[in-house]
Amino acid sequence: MPIKIIPEKCNGCQLCIPSCPYAAIGMEGDKAALFESCVHCGICIDSCPLGAIIEVSESGEILEKAISYSNILVVGEAGSSGFTKLSREILGKAREFADVVGIGVWLIIFASDENLAKEAINLGADEVLLLEGINTNSYNTSSIIKAVSGIIEQKTPEIILSGETILGCDVMPRIAQRFNTGILSGCVSLEIDPADKTLSCTRPFYGKRIMGITSCPQQRPQIVIIKEGVFREGGQYRGWRGVVERIKI
Ligand code: SF4
Ligand code: SF4
Repeated sequence: MPIKIIPEKCNGCQLCIPSCPYAAIGMEGDKAALFESCVHCGICIDSCPLGAIIEVSESGEILEKAISYSNILVVGEAGSSGFTKLSREILGKAREFADVVGIGVWLIIFASDENLAKEAINLGADEVLLLEGINTNSYNTSSIIKAVSGIIEQKTPEIILSGETILGCDVMPRIAQRFNTGILSGCVSLEIDPADKTLSCTRPFYGKRIMGITSCPQQRPQIVIIKEGVFREGGQYRGWRGVVERIKI
């Protein structure tokens, strides 16, 4: 089936380029383009987070593959005695939202410690992704962005929750830019619309003189960075069933 890139959807992130085994994708200006060597195998379609690479019929009719967004992805952080208080608070909020709208919670952590995975499952995570090979104490920003972007492309989460930490403030705005989506920050409360899973973030503006609501109704994933102390820690889910996946970076 012929393959086509929709220029209006392409943000020039170049994530698709390494996916082609025939080196048949490159950049023309700030947009991706297919070369004549393209054999229309379709391998690159899933590499585009924006759905800009599509199949078309022989007559040119668009057979667009819709990206299906679902679930909540929590970017966890831990110290020597387990998850940070902030990560436990975020995980608690993620579980609360997931129960309200009937979706799942994934958690990624830059560690290989199985005990952390068990702790996350006891806090309500349905799936824990242990990203091995990155030391967050002396991390390289681009390797973290690459690793998290790979998970987002593969899992297509509806919502991503991260702490307002050095790591979160460094990495999440760049990921939002990469996926051409919005980022919500400074929330003093966060609500979810069960109908379309759009988040509403209440936050202060103009030196805390007024409160307003920000949201990201059109784009997915919705990314939120959250300060410590905004949410309460969630409960323990003893006997909760979760799965653990190890991913080498
Ligand atoms: S991955 Fe998609 S958005 Fe990024 S350059 Fe390729 S076609 Fe464009
Ligand atoms: S369709 Fe196949 S050959 Fe063409 S750019 Fe995509 S991966 Fe490469």
